[in-house]
Amino acid sequence: MSSSGGIATVLATYFIKRKGVVYGCAFVPPMQVKHIRCTTLDDIQKLRGSKYVQSDVSEILPCLENDLRQGKEVLFIGTPCQIAGVISNFGQFKNLTTVDLVCHGVPSMQFLCDTLPKKICKGLKDEIGFRINTNYHLFLRRNGSIIYERALSKDLFFKGFFTGILFRPSCFTCLYATPKRVSDITIGDFWGLKSNKILDINNGVSLTLVNTEKGTEIFECVKDKLVYEQHSLDEAIKDNAQLSSPFRRSYREVLFKKLYPKVGYLAAIWSIMPDRLIGTRMKAFLKDRL
Ligand SMILES: Cc1cc2nc3c(=O)[nH]c(=O)nc-3n(C[C@H](O)[C@H](O)[C@H](O)COP(=O)(O)OP(=O)(O)OC[C@H]3O[C@@H](n4cnc5c(N)ncnc54)[C@H](O)[C@@H]3O)c2cc1C
Repeated sequence: MSSSGGIATVLATYFIKRKGVVYGCAFVPPMQVKHIRCTTLDDIQKLRGSKYVQSDVSEILPCLENDLRQGKEVLFIGTPCQIAGVISNFGQFKNLTTVDLVCHGVPSMQFLCDTLPKKICKGLKDEIGFRINTNYHLFLRRNGSIIYERALSKDLFFKGFFTGILFRPSCFTCLYATPKRVSDITIGDFWGLKSNKILDINNGVSLTLVNTEKGTEIFECVKDKLVYEQHSLDEAIKDNAQLSSPFRRSYREVLFKKLYPKVGYLAAIWSIMPDRLIGTRMKAFLKDRL
């Protein structure tokens, strides 16, 4: 299932139907998140859903170069820093189209593993999910059934993620968290949308910024598949901080990174934000009872 309005899948489908190749981020068992090469409509289903950890792109770069040299139409979807890397290596290829995500930062997969039961982590075969539409909800699914899940209010990975303590140091000085984007098309969540036409906001609405001529051409080709309307960039930026500046580093992040190697994830996060963790648990406890 897509995380937001599903624009990534619409764009990927367009490329696949034109016999192109799509590169994007997938969960690959056991417990890896990495970019994969997709050539069929079935393949692109694996890209759906945001994976809130760093995706490894190193393995697919030789295939990407090969596809571009062979003149295939290639779509690459990733975080802005991944796109900047791809463009600096392959930007000369006219058959390359890039789509970047609005991104507040990515944690290492190790942090997620630290919060999961070891047995589940090792045997994970099927799928990991972080969102059900607009709701953040961690789940692990095997053979179609959910085998493990944690609600946002009880989730120590999400707590670390949303407070920014898990992001890579470079995320706090991200050069790409600006309205001037690095890719042909930027996608994200249109938080705070006010619309008379798009009423089903709870199922997620994609924000789409068309940044280049190539991006405009592609958007024109897919727009009949979308329910869309035009808004000002200012409206998009208003509720989406990472369209204008990087996530701000906090003292909690500095402390967490110092403590984590010595005491591990759970002790480190409880030490740096006991107030927040107790507060959320109290709220969840009261909500269950009132
Ligand atoms: C780490 C991270 C941080 C984000 N932060 C924000 C934010 O601050 N504001 C905002 O508006 N949106 C943010 N997003 C984007 C948002 O969550 C949705 O991914 C986006 O709106 C696309 O939704 P969709 O329904 O079109 O696509 P979906 O069908 O959900 O597809 C998601 C696309 O994103 C790619 N992708 C998924 N996970 C990763 C990853 N870890 N690394 C690289 N590419 C990935 C996949 O290749 C796929 O093509 C973030 C996404 C990620 C992964």
